[in-house]
Amino acid sequence: MKKYKTAIILFAIFEAIAVSLWLSTGNLFFLLNFSYIGLCIGIGAGLMAAEKKYAREFVQFGVGAYMLVFLGLICKENMQIEGFWYYLFSGVVGAGVLHYAIAKIFGPLLFGRGWCGYCCWTAMILDLLPYKQPQGPRKKIGYIRYIVFALSLILVLLLFHFGKATKHTMFVIFLIGNLVYYVVGIILAIAFKDNRAFCKYICPVTVFLKPMSYFSALRVHCDEEKCIQCGKCLKVCPMDVEVNNESCKRKNATECILCNQCKKACPVKALK
Ligand code: SF4
Ligand code: SF4
Ligand code: SF4
Repeated sequence: MKKYKTAIILFAIFEAIAVSLWLSTGNLFFLLNFSYIGLCIGIGAGLMAAEKKYAREFVQFGVGAYMLVFLGLICKENMQIEGFWYYLFSGVVGAGVLHYAIAKIFGPLLFGRGWCGYCCWTAMILDLLPYKQPQGPRKKIGYIRYIVFALSLILVLLLFHFGKATKHTMFVIFLIGNLVYYVVGIILAIAFKDNRAFCKYICPVTVFLKPMSYFSALRVHCDEEKCIQCGKCLKVCPMDVEVNNESCKRKNATECILCNQCKKACPVKALK
């Protein structure tokens, strides 16, 4: 049972969130939604502990497809950044705002960019492409994310200004936004031979995720005494993290998506 401790704790955390939100709002949706997500994450963590090959993909599709298809396409909730601004400015603390608060703003203080490694529906598709490890040096174009972030904010402010900020408009923006993300993400992945190019240079959500994950309680630690500097961890990392350096200031420290590829590659188990 000991090796499944993390899986049980993760499920318990999500269950506590589910029950608290259900009891405080009276909305059954919160109970079902967070219980389902907690179950996927708990089972995924259990599969990971049992060293099953597709454990991460199980969570990625379990949570990502649920959010995209059920919450997005069927329930018509805009869970993208524009939806967050929309609900925030409407003063509605609904699914969209809670989703951002838990997964992308305060949650990363605890679990870093776990969202990016295990739940994001954009990366769920991009990770299927063949360039799992970047095949070239990182480009210096990360500033694009701030432009996209500002544009998303301006778009929603303009919608409010012109009285067009309705749920229907936000649903249309959700459809178009996702389509654009997938197309741009796939083109960039092929052009840069890097599945995660979209995450590194374009995704506006990283404006929240990166600073918060700098302080993350959960991170990959390197026992530098054990490390033999073979560089295998650096080769398999999809996010170019200098993971064999234990310092918090290691290169691309806020990029780690906790995928554990580096741990699997380390021949001396220096990464924990
Ligand atoms: S960086 Fe953005 S697109 Fe990439 S996994 Fe994270 S939230 Fe998804
Ligand atoms: S390979 Fe290691 S350092 Fe790189 S993103 Fe995955 S967990 Fe983080
Ligand atoms: S794979 Fe392990 S031993 Fe090799 S550089 Fe990375 S941490 Fe060090």
